[in-house]
Amino acid sequence: MYRPGRIFLSVPQMGGHEKNYVQKAIEDNWVTTSGPNIPGFEHDICQHTNVRHAVALSSGTASLHVALRLLGVGPGDEVLCSTFTAVASANPILYLGASPVFIESESETWNMCPATLRSAIEDRLKQGKKPAAILVVHLYGMPAKLNEIMAVAEEYNIPVLEDAAEALGARYGGHQVGTFGRMGVFSFGGSKIITTSAGGAIITSKPDLAEKAVFLATQAKDPAPHEQHSEMGYNYRISNINAGIGRGQIEVLELRVKQHRDIFNYYRNQLQSIEGVEFLAEPKACFSNRWLSTMLLPEGQKPKAIRQALEEENIETRPLWRPLHKQPLFANNLYFGDRLSERLFNRGLCLPSSSSLQEEELEKVVKHLKKLLEVV
Ligand SMILES: *Cc1c(COP(=O)(O)O)cnc(C)c1O
Repeated sequence: MYRPGRIFLSVPQMGGHEKNYVQKAIEDNWVTTSGPNIPGFEHDICQHTNVRHAVALSSGTASLHVALRLLGVGPGDEVLCSTFTAVASANPILYLGASPVFIESESETWNMCPATLRSAIEDRLKQGKKPAAILVVHLYGMPAKLNEIMAVAEEYNIPVLEDAAEALGARYGGHQVGTFGRMGVFSFGGSKIITTSAGGAIITSKPDLAEKAVFLATQAKDPAPHEQHSEMGYNYRISNINAGIGRGQIEVLELRVKQHRDIFNYYRNQLQSIEGVEFLAEPKACFSNRWLSTMLLPEGQKPKAIRQALEEENIETRPLWRPLHKQPLFANNLYFGDRLSERLFNRGLCLPSSSSLQEEELEKVVKHLKKLLEVV
């Protein structure tokens, strides 16, 4: 709902050079899903994440779909998936006829708990169902405990796909997230830390996976002089126009990460002294991009009432992601854990986090939150 003066949760902010790339694409008539901005943008992603290969696609969801397919996930398979995430993380598992098995988070990063992951694997192996893949999400830009998760995955020889849709620019132990698993996925949707309006990418160190990703994303056309197809493919390539926006956006990625971290730090400094309010700290190995600033309200406060009151002030907020094991869509799926994400969901709030937010706007959000929590 738009009203003038509205403070949004997360809106795009152009860096300035996007229109040069887009204009060139239009002038040269590369208004299609091929053209120089695509390899250009992929090269930029590789440079930024220090990875060998990037394949830019039409969305983060499409990227997860292709990546899971490349891991061999198919009908009847089980995929171990973070429960505390957006539905877009798990929908691609359904596209392939497989089932997500949901794994609860731990409290230090709010991401997949390595110990719960292990017990879920043990349980599934006892049932004679070896999981086909592990899909680990870096929620709100906070890296999951990758060392521990990779160790469990290697012990049981299960491939890892990182859903880093919200976490471009985040690092774990100094390395960019998305580079730990067999593949990583980014999203460049309109609300993400940088955007191509719609877009996504798969990154990987394996040339054969990158090559096959392009193949599947472009209708799986066999190398033959006539149209020939031996496998089912998709129409998932990014457009050259969107890739042009991406080239401009990635120039300001580091600045955006700094701005998002500054916004988070501002909220934390202003609000953390309120009795019962909590902010998620960065564990030692983690460098979060703080894509969305999140907070936990004091016990007894209702996020819904706070959100409605902020809405009256023309301030947009959002609940935390509703855990997927609580979604009607996944009512029949397995779940392992202690229900931490349900408790977080019941106390949590996502605060306005756009990099374009002005100081007065941040002050306004804080002022109203303090009033609502009755500390002024
Ligand atoms: C945004 C998002 C996606 C999907 O990306 P799209 O580009 O919107 O398809 C997947 N996973 C998570 C965690 C996301 O936040």
